[in-house]
Formats: sequence, structure tokens, C-alpha cells
Amino acid sequence: MCGIVGYIGVQQAYPILIKGLHRLEYRGYDSAGVSMINEEGTLSVFKEKGKVAALEASVEGKDISGTIGIAHTRWATHGEPNAKNAHPHYSQSKNLSLVHNGIIENYKTLRTKLEEKGFEFQSDTDTEVLVQLIEYQEEKDNCDLYTAVQRSLKIVEGAYAIAVLDKRNPDVLIAARKSSPLIIGVGQNNHENNGQAEFFLGSDATPIIEYTNQVVYLKDEEIAYMDRDGHLRITNLANVEQTPDMQTLQMNLDELEKGGFPHFMLKEIYEQPNALRNCIRGRLSIEEKDIKLSGIIDYREKFLSARRIIICACGTSWHSALIGKYFIEEAAQIPVEVEYASEFRYRNPVITANDIVIAVSQSGETADTLAAIQLAKEKGAFIYGICNVIGSSIARATDTGTYLHVGPEIGVASTKAFTGQVTALFMLGLAIAKEKRTLSDDMFHMLIDELLMIPDKMQWTLEHNKDVEKFSQIFTYAKNFIYLGRGYNYPVALEGALKLKEISYIHAEGYPAAEMKHGPIALIDEEMPVVVIAPKKGMYDKVVSNIQEIKSRKGKIISVVTEGDTTVRDMSDYCFEIPDTRDCYVPLLAAIPLQLMSYYVAVAKGRNVDQPRNLAKSVTVE
Ligand code: GLU
Repeated sequence: MCGIVGYIGVQQAYPILIKGLHRLEYRGYDSAGVSMINEEGTLSVFKEKGKVAALEASVEGKDISGTIGIAHTRWATHGEPNAKNAHPHYSQSKNLSLVHNGIIENYKTLRTKLEEKGFEFQSDTDTEVLVQLIEYQEEKDNCDLYTAVQRSLKIVEGAYAIAVLDKRNPDVLIAARKSSPLIIGVGQNNHENNGQAEFFLGSDATPIIEYTNQVVYLKDEEIAYMDRDGHLRITNLANVEQTPDMQTLQMNLDELEKGGFPHFMLKEIYEQPNALRNCIRGRLSIEEKDIKLSGIIDYREKFLSARRIIICACGTSWHSALIGKYFIEEAAQIPVEVEYASEFRYRNPVITANDIVIAVSQSGETADTLAAIQLAKEKGAFIYGICNVIGSSIARATDTGTYLHVGPEIGVASTKAFTGQVTALFMLGLAIAKEKRTLSDDMFHMLIDELLMIPDKMQWTLEHNKDVEKFSQIFTYAKNFIYLGRGYNYPVALEGALKLKEISYIHAEGYPAAEMKHGPIALIDEEMPVVVIAPKKGMYDKVVSNIQEIKSRKGKIISVVTEGDTTVRDMSDYCFEIPDTRDCYVPLLAAIPLQLMSYYVAVAKGRNVDQPRNLAKSVTVE
């Protein structure tokens, strides 16, 4: 889910494509590639693991000429990040090359069918299926490329932004999208292009803005045809003509990189509904009310005979692990322990071959977590990884696992990776529960249904808590904060406190609400903001009593409540609302206002939100 660039016109494509890839670098990626058609009609593909600079070095001395081309930065979802799996991918005949952002969910079935028909695959990606399928449709139906793309996209399930080149027709560029963004830049006649037509493609406008501010945002299930004569034709999958909605870009480059948000952190907070849709896509099915996690299906016996699960993690991942513990124990009835990886690795923990050790790490490079699983491996445990970065060290060191698929996270303070990890752990718990039959069918289906609704409820939460910006400024005076929650929301309190510490440098502590009276209550006075996660669920009445205790000591209450709850609202100085959901899923919603609050407090204090002092995105040292 990283980046696409494309060009057709009179200028040399390669410099425009490479510049475009550099512009997309801020999004993070693991490999890059380009494809051009030169004057002689040769369709070239160059691709390399790593940075765009590595790709540039690899094409040294090669023929990179051509006035039409496509380029890609990859954030691997299927297949290791290496040169073979990097895009563009050729079709069997090498007539076509294609770049793709997104995930093709039914790629396995399609690949098997195409292999039966004699297609040979060169990579482990889901993407290659798409280019082979287009070629197959073209031959089978004896149709043009546009129609073949249209027919193929009707067959694939999943998310895509694609661009396709055909060496037999170097005057046409074809692009399409569904759930992954794609923008067409319409060239302005100027001296650069000698007044000739040209089109640009970009996953966002950053690769385009230098050349034109006239853009068309392609919509879901639209296919675009662009040619050198300046024709731009857009249809939907049913071949109904669409009128291109031309817009004038107003933003500058810096604003564009952040999607119009002032910081990556805020952009990533707002990305969460979509990030979670990607995380559950292809794993939870609405129609079948089922869950499919290949890591569990392939190692079913291991999970059935597991004596206990130990989750090793650090920082934010440790908080998501705690939520995972509560859920897995409740749903799958296996004892779960959560360990700081840095402590675990230097103890002499008792581990047997009947234990499953789960490593949770956004980057998959956290040094302590890596060392912890190496220790567990030596002791014979089965190792499961939950990472965001495909092919990372932890992902490679584990026996199997689940990727988050929430896209690259650039802000140092983790937001979408946290909710992604929690969701991955929920899916894991549900998948084990299904194998162990520890939940009734009704409960299982209800939990699946409700999890599928979480992205929409996250959207609601983002839209209904806009006043957080205003009231966060009031709290810049505070030297300390306390965060309280019970049950599933105790780890949310810990995570809320950590977010505030990380980016605003205000001291904050998270506690289980009932622990207040065992010490921390001594800290409460009129200066102390206390954030209480108080949804109308399980221990609601008890949390209300905890709030009373704080109020009577003059603490300032900031609460997170279920939509419509007036009892806690009336007791609070400030209040966030979240939609009603199952007890276990509240953390996915309650985390959002707390992320927003720490963000706005930090901004009001003038902090460097995306790169807080002393912190690194991934802790690859001890
Ligand atoms: N699913 C594709 C792959 O793993 C595309 C990933 C991307 O969007 O960069 O190659």
C-alpha cells in the first residue's frame, strides 16, 4: 500500500518517474521499480529491493529511454520484500507490465486456475495474478487491453490501484482503482511538453504537483484510459462512461505529503478506520461470519495442545498484548502471560514445547523482542509473530504469524499500529476459539459481526470529538496526568498515559481504576487532570464510584463515555463520546480520543510531535 507514479507524454518518462518515487518516499517502503517503453517498442522493467537510490544505481548504463512509463514503491503484503517480488510485474508474454498497490484477496484461487492454464509465475505476490489474468482475458475474449482490465477487475476481490503498460500499444496508459488512492494529473500545455498532451499518475499528488495542478481523483471501481492525443476516458467496471471531475490543487508539497494534515501522527490517527479495514480484509468474512487466519489453520494442532501463551513485547505493543491476554483467555480459554521482552530475555523463564510465544512489534526489528523469541525458540516453544513490516527480522524468526496490513507508520508515537495489533490479537483469539470450540456459535458470530463494525464506529468517534483540540489547550499547564480504566480499559489507560508522555513530555501514569485508593489518590488535587475510561459496560457502576472519589478531592475529570451517557458526563469537566460496542472492543474506540488529546496537548505546547526528543521509531538497540 505504498506508491504509484505514471507518465505518458512527450518528455522522457524515467526522470519524472524517479522524481515521483522520491516524492513518495515519505510514505515508507521496502522496494521500488520502473517500467518504460522505448522508441523501438521494447518494454523494460527494472526493480530493486531497498531505497529508490538502489534502483537508480541498478539502472546505470541501461536503456531507460521512453516517453511512457510506470513506477512503484512497494510495502509488501504478500511475499518477502526482494527484487523478484518488487513491482512492476510482467505478464507471461512480457507484452504487459503492471504496478499495483493494495491486496488481491482471492489471488490463491486465481493463481491456481491460471497455472492450470499454463501460466508460469515469477514472484510470490498477489499482484502478479492481476497482470497474468489481464493477459488471459485479452487472449480468451480477443479484446483490447482496456476491456481485458475491466473484465479482470470484475473477477478480483480486494483493494487495488493499478497502472498498466502494453508494449504493442505505447500510446496508451491504463489505470484503475478500488480502495487504494490514485490521482491523474492532466498536463498543461507549456514549453516543457511543447504544447503537447501529457498525463501523470500518482498515489497522491506529490509526484504530480510540479507539473500540473489540474487533477482528477479516480473513484472506486473506475478505469481510466489516457493517450498521447490528450484523450482521457473514464468508465466504471460496468463500462458506464463517467465524467472526469477536474479539480485544481491548492496545497503545497509539505501539506500534500501529510495528506493535508499538519503532522503524520494526526494523519495516522485519522487513517485508523481504513487501516483496520485493511487489517481485517480477507480474514473476517461478513457473508460466512467466519475467520480465516492461515497461521492458525496451518498449525491447528499446536494451538489445540498449547498449555499457555506468553506474549513478549515492548512499549505500546506491550499494551496491546495486555488487551490480547484478556481476550484470548476469555474467548479461547488458554492462560496467557504478558512479558516485557527486555525482562523476559534476561530471566531464566520456564518454557516448554507446549508453550506458544507471541512476539508483537510494529517494526519487527525491536531488539529485545527479537532476543526474547530467540531464547524461547532455543527452549523449544512455538513462535508466532504479529508485525507490521513484512519480511522484518521478527517476522523471519517466527514459525508463523499475522501481519497488521495497516500501512507504513511514520509518526514516532504509534497510533494505527496499536489499534492494528489489538485487532490482530482479537482475530487470533477468535481463530483459536473457533478451533477449540470454546465459544458458542452465537457468541462467535456476534463477536465477528461487531468487529466488522469497528472501522465505522472509529469513523464516528473521529467525527464526533472535534472539540478535543479546543479543550486540550487548557491542559498545557499540567505537570502530571492520571489515566484510569478497568478490565479491557486498564491497558488503554496505560497507552493513553504513554502517548501523552511521549509527545508532550508531561508526566502521566495509567492505573487500574480500583488501585487509586491504594496510593495514587494521595496525588489528587485541583491541579490534577484525571482521564477516566468509563463506558457503560461491565464495571460501569464501580468506575462511577471511582470518579466520585476523585471529584470529592477536586480532581479534574476527563471521561470517555458511551454515546448518550449523561451520568458520567454530568460528573465530568470534559467528556469524549464513543459508540456502544462489546466490552472487549471498547479499547479500539477509546484509544482514539486519547490519541487526539495527547496530540493536541503536545501541539499546544509546541512539541515536535512526529519526532519527539530522545525517541526512535523502532528500537533496534538494547
Ligand atoms: N500486495 C502487493 C504486494 O505485496 C502490493 C503491495 C503494495 O501495495 O505495495 O506486492
